[in-house]
Amino acid sequence: MSYKKVFLKSGKEESLKRFHPWIFSGAIHHIEGEPEEGETVKVYTSNKEFIAVGHFQVGSIAVRVLSFCDEPIDYDFWKRKLEIAYNVRKSIGVAGKPQNNTYRLVHGEGDNLPGLVIDVYARTAVMQAHSVGMHVCRMQIAEALAEVMHGVIDNIYYKSETTLPYKAELEAENGFIKGGSTDNVALENGLKFHVDWLKGQKTGFFVDQRENRALLERYAKGRNVLNMFCYTGGFSFYAMRGGANLVHSVDSSAKAIDLTNDNVELNFPGDPRHNAFAEDAFKFLDRMGDQYDLIILDPPAFAKHKDALRNALQGYRKLNAKAFEKIRPGGILFTFSCSQVVTKDNFRTAVFTAAAMSGRSVRILHQLTQPADHPVNIYHPEGEYLKGLVLYVE
Ligand code: SAH
Repeated sequence: MSYKKVFLKSGKEESLKRFHPWIFSGAIHHIEGEPEEGETVKVYTSNKEFIAVGHFQVGSIAVRVLSFCDEPIDYDFWKRKLEIAYNVRKSIGVAGKPQNNTYRLVHGEGDNLPGLVIDVYARTAVMQAHSVGMHVCRMQIAEALAEVMHGVIDNIYYKSETTLPYKAELEAENGFIKGGSTDNVALENGLKFHVDWLKGQKTGFFVDQRENRALLERYAKGRNVLNMFCYTGGFSFYAMRGGANLVHSVDSSAKAIDLTNDNVELNFPGDPRHNAFAEDAFKFLDRMGDQYDLIILDPPAFAKHKDALRNALQGYRKLNAKAFEKIRPGGILFTFSCSQVVTKDNFRTAVFTAAAMSGRSVRILHQLTQPADHPVNIYHPEGEYLKGLVLYVE
């Protein structure tokens, strides 16, 4: 296969020598031929030495590197990469378990597949392309996925309508590439969830909180729990299983509250301890009393870009300040940020400031992050995005 060639400016190969998977448009000296968006290209240094092969795209990240070896990007390549990803999930103990069939199989750069996300929910894999190249290769990837996961999954749902660059005018439609089951109940650590991959957020479920939810279960006994930004109610059911006294789930989206109520019926039908409210977080926190002694704050990303950082930090500060103000003495706060541009230190400072505003004594019990099926490529530290603190509030 002959790929078009991208030549870098002198010195711009340095980050590639350290295996960083992105090539910015400013690093390119010239391109031989005119690759289309999503086309596979080979990358050469200014000395005309091969350095990488990847997907070309118009925009600030011009090439997403798929391999630092001079090899074809074909069916065998995808199959090999997916086999490795699946083996990693088996060896870390999330795949192939009777109690858990919900996990991330491919986490973009973390699995050396920039632009590709695949989540597995029972017998369905939901595949999401964040780059034009992965969109172009979707059928080949789906074929390889079906082979690698033969006997484990029957359905592949492609969901990239909102994740591909708008300007590329791909008009990708969501839909099944393989199979077509409507059975959407998945198991996470023995709890059941309806996963709405058709209309839900992301691939339908926030897989990345699995271990943090399990930790919450250990703290729930006898507590009055507020699960703020509950989405499908994940944290709430772990709290109920852990013996919580009462659990209130809050989300501004009525659809999320419906999903949460459906999941209550799946796991704890008719359990009077649970109640759900479709309401804005800040309004609820303002009007609520001081009955809660276990609060979860898992808001959506407040900052999607660097310029929004200041406002985002202010958002985290205000939100956490309200929790510190109201949580009962001896209460436990699970607080998170999933904004990639907010660093661990940024987030900790925002929470620290909020704690100081309340004047209460606060201890850090745990520092949380994303689970092992959302690995961080050591050469791509930008892949670390989920931050959490578990705090004891005196
Ligand atoms: N904790 C969830 C994931 C949260 S995603 C889980 O474990 O699955 C963030 C959620 O915040 C979304 O469901 C979104 O509808 C909700 N949300 C966004 N803005 C909000 C607001 N101002 N008040 C309450 N909920 C909000």
